[in-house]
Amino acid sequence: MSSPGTSEPQNTPESLAPDAIASIRDNLDEVATRAATAAEVSGRTSADVKVLLATKTQPAATIRVALEHGFTLIGENKVQELVGKADDLADLDHEAHLIGPLQKNKVNHTLRHAHCIQSVDNLELATKINNRLDVLDQSMDFFVQVNTSREDSKSGIAPDEAEALISELRGHSRMRLRGLMTIGLPGRTPEEIRPSYAELRELSQKLLASGAMPAAATELSMGMSNDFELAIAEGATMVRVGSSIFGARDYS
Ligand SMILES: *Cc1c(COP(=O)(O)O)cnc(C)c1O
Repeated sequence: MSSPGTSEPQNTPESLAPDAIASIRDNLDEVATRAATAAEVSGRTSADVKVLLATKTQPAATIRVALEHGFTLIGENKVQELVGKADDLADLDHEAHLIGPLQKNKVNHTLRHAHCIQSVDNLELATKINNRLDVLDQSMDFFVQVNTSREDSKSGIAPDEAEALISELRGHSRMRLRGLMTIGLPGRTPEEIRPSYAELRELSQKLLASGAMPAAATELSMGMSNDFELAIAEGATMVRVGSSIFGARDYS
């Protein structure tokens, strides 16, 4: 890479304590093993369940450790963070997903740096994305985010409105639907969360069976640090894990 100038160290793993690097690597191995075991218990293989690293608040140097350890999927909640870290990670083969809410005025920025948007939950936003993709002559993967928690404050479309939205999105030719995403009920016990994961799986099965959802859109993005094994038991094909790998987040 370019000159090892003094302005760069904060973006390289060399700036991290060896202990911190070792601990991230151990955690990555442990999460991968647990996810693989849960996949096998549910009659699938480790290849059927991908681990996406939820990297909000983590500096590029930390994310680099994980990508160099063989992980390839990262998810950011804020467009600003996704864009801000993109250059520092550009030399590493990976996919960056947006997993937080997307404001319409940030679509242009997002499309430049994201490989997939997991938080599409309304037609207006999707249309804005599709129109912009048309201008750029690009296409993009996305998930429809479903609000399985029924809390008004949460983003995601209501489960009983998902079919209508997905039908309308079939006309958005620049957008490739990969499946459904949900957050569930953060902060609750895994037993309290499990029904929302079951609901997402059932919704997906119903929409695939009726043909409302394209046959290729089989993915289910659900499960976080506290409950990803349960989510895999309910059919998750992608889990989004942050704090079990990087430790508790520091928002200061
Ligand atoms: C932060 C976040 C995660 C990961 O949460 P952890 O509990 O840290 O594993 C997953 N999905 C979304 C949408 C998030 O914002």
